[in-house]
Order: sequence, then structure tokens, then C-alpha cells
Amino acid sequence: LAKLNPQTLIVQKFGGTSLGTPERIRQVARRITEEKRAGRDVIVVVSAMGNTTDHLFRLARTVTPSPPKRELDMLLTAGERVSMALLSMAISDLGFEAISFTGSQSGIVTDTSHTKARILDVRAYRVQQELERGRIVIVAGFQGVSPAKEVTTLGRGGSDTTCVALASAFGARQCDIFTDVDGIYTADPHLVPEARKIEKISYDEMIELAFCGAGVLHWRSVDVAKRSGVRVHVRSSFRKETGTIVTDKGEIEIADVRGMTHDFDLVRISVPGTDDAVGLAAQMLEALENADINVRLLNISPASGDKGNVSVMVSKEQKDSALRALKDEVPDREFTVDEEVATISIVGHGLCAKPGIAKTVLASLASLGIRPLPISTSGTTLTISLRQSEAVEAMRQLHRALGLSGNDAS
Ligand code: ADP
Ligand code: ASP
Ligand code: MG
Repeated sequence: LAKLNPQTLIVQKFGGTSLGTPERIRQVARRITEEKRAGRDVIVVVSAMGNTTDHLFRLARTVTPSPPKRELDMLLTAGERVSMALLSMAISDLGFEAISFTGSQSGIVTDTSHTKARILDVRAYRVQQELERGRIVIVAGFQGVSPAKEVTTLGRGGSDTTCVALASAFGARQCDIFTDVDGIYTADPHLVPEARKIEKISYDEMIELAFCGAGVLHWRSVDVAKRSGVRVHVRSSFRKETGTIVTDKGEIEIADVRGMTHDFDLVRISVPGTDDAVGLAAQMLEALENADINVRLLNISPASGDKGNVSVMVSKEQKDSALRALKDEVPDREFTVDEEVATISIVGHGLCAKPGIAKTVLASLASLGIRPLPISTSGTTLTISLRQSEAVEAMRQLHRALGLSGNDAS
């Protein structure tokens, strides 16, 4: 692809809430045409309207409890097709030329792993041609096509990744992700009212936050941004102010703790009080790996006598396939499933150097009478698992105890 003039090129993505109603679509169209009027080349990536993707998922499950992944991708990609066409129509209505493309037409080439495909290449020649003709190009996010011409999706939240990949392919230095919050906060502002907006965050911290559950960005979009050096500006669809910049350097001052996040979309699968817990854990991990299931937390702990407990956490979405794989490959064990689990993850570059942070975390949880289940830590992330019913209160308490709320919290 020819690199377009980075001075005039802008690549933007609008999320589901921002496109949730016809009025909002018209509002987004007005915002885009202002950019065009200012002389810019505009690529716009769209998500499906509102909760369309959830509805399509549920619709599939009304037909069968385990929809084939290829067909699920066929179904889910329809959501973005609706919003791309409507947005293009709304732009035409304002007197500007626009054209919409599916992921496949935009040259988003992926591998074949349906429902969580990875982008292999961006061959956006048609996008380029249409930009050169002066048109605004609307691209369906979250979808691509495999070399064998199969339609794929990139995983929930994947339009962010489409946006960053296109920005990178055209040599843009930055892309804008427009959403329903005005930036990235120290915790999900819908859950923790004292959360503060972060001005700048490093790629590494954002990857950790997103991977551990902060749905504001698809974690792979940050990974692509990091590797290609594209800055990501997360900002409000409804307001003009600057949001949060994700870049190679975070805020100048190194924070011990940058932010925290929760993940409620998990289940724990365990085998309590078993012989040879380590051997069993290895068998379980192998079964899950063969079934392509992502294990979020593994825990092996002593039980009575020389028995042990083994548990793994996987996403709710993968619960059924995980159980199937475990029952097939480890048929002699009984697995129990706990759906009332959650994790809270605390992220910051200073974590590894400051064991005092973990102490503060344990003390605050104890003050709420919460006994955390397994805790795991890496250099920059501390993950606690606990009961889901305790998680919101724990988030708010930890946010304060770790000094994230600040003095002027409002
Ligand atoms: P979109 O449809 O625009 O992609 P998403 O729902 O995927 O929007 O992401 C925006 C949401 O992410 C917010 O409404 C907010 O509830 C949630 N969120 C989770 N963690 C954070 C965070 N740390 N900062 C801001 N928003 C967050
Ligand atoms: N519509 C898709 C989803 O809901 C992709 C996205 O929003 O980024 O997951
Ligand atoms: Mg999203």
C-alpha cells in the first residue's frame, strides 16, 4: 500500500453505543464530514449498532446450543454490515461521497480460526483507490477473510483492532477510537464512580489492563499499535475534548499503580481433593490447549492428607467447549463448575518493586471480610480472584486504598 500523507489522513473507529440509533448515526456522519470538509482523507471503521452482536449470538443459540463457528462468523459479521451501510447513506445525505466495504472487500486478511481470527495482512487497495477518488471510506470492523475466502471475526471488541491495523497499513501516526466514555480511566467508571481519567498510558500497561478485562480496548489492538508505533486516542463520540493517548510512554511520572480492572466473564472449573494434583493439572492443561482454550488462572493447592485441589479459570464463552474437552480427555474425574467468580487485576510498572502494594491489597480485602481465592502476580500485574458478589465493593475499596481516587476525586 502507498503510505498516504500522514498530515491529512485520519483513521477513526466508532463503537456500538456511538452508532446505537439512527439519530446517533447521523450525528457521527456530521462529525466525519467536518473532517472531510477540513481537507482530510477519512477512513472510518464501524462496530455493529448497540447490542446487535449480543442479539445475534443469542439468536444463534435459539437455533442450537453449539453453533458451528464458521456459521457464527457468517451471522455476526452481518451486524457491522448494517451500520457501515447506514453510515455511508447518512454521509451521502449530507452531500458527501462515501462508500462502505466489508472486511473482505477492505483486504483484511486473517488466519482461519473462526471467532478469534488474527490479522495476517492488510491489502486495502480498494480503500486506497476510493480515498484517492476523494471518497470517505467506511470499513466494517471486527471481520476479515481467510486466504481460502472464508469470512472470519476477530473476537469480541475486535473493531478496535481493525482500526489500528488500517492505521498502521496506511502509515498513519495515530488513530481515534470514539466510544461512550471520554477516555481510559483508572477503573471502569461505570463501576467505580471515583475513577479518574488517565491522560497518557503506555502500550504495555494498556495491554495488561485490556487483557485482564478492561473492555474499553480490544487487547490485540494495543498489541498491534505497540508493534507498529501507532498512537491510539480513546475519546468520546459525544464530546470534542481530548481523551486518553495510548503511546510508548505513559505519564511522565511512573505510577506504582496505573489502574485496575475487573473480569466477570469467567468460570472456574475444579477438581477438589484429588491424588496427584500436579499430574492432573498437566493433563487438564493439555486437554484445554488441544481444544484451543485460553486458561486465565491455574491454581494447585494442598487439600487434606496428601491430596490437592486443582482449578482453572476460563472465559464463560469457552465454558462448554472446555468441559467437553476435559470430559473427553480426562474421563475419570468429576469436574465442578463455579460461575460466581471474578478477578480484579491491578496494573502498574511499579508493582514488582513494591511488595507493600500486595500488602495494602490484602489488608483492604480483609477489612471487607473478603478472603481472596488464588492471587497471582507478574512483573506489572497483580490478579486476585474472588466471589463475583464481592467484586464491586472490593474494586471501590481497593481503588481508594491504592491512592487511585486522588484527593480531588469527584
Ligand atoms: P464500544 O462499543 O465503543 O467499543 P465498549 O463497550 O467496547 O465500547 O467500551 C467502552 C466501555 O468500556 C465503557 O462504557 C466502560 O464501561 C468500559 N470500561 C472498562 N474499563 C474501562 C476503563 N478502564 N476506562 C474506561 N472505560 C472502561
Ligand atoms: N460488534 C463486535 C462486538 O460487539 C465488535 C466490536 O464492537 O468491536 O464484539
Ligand atoms: Mg469495544
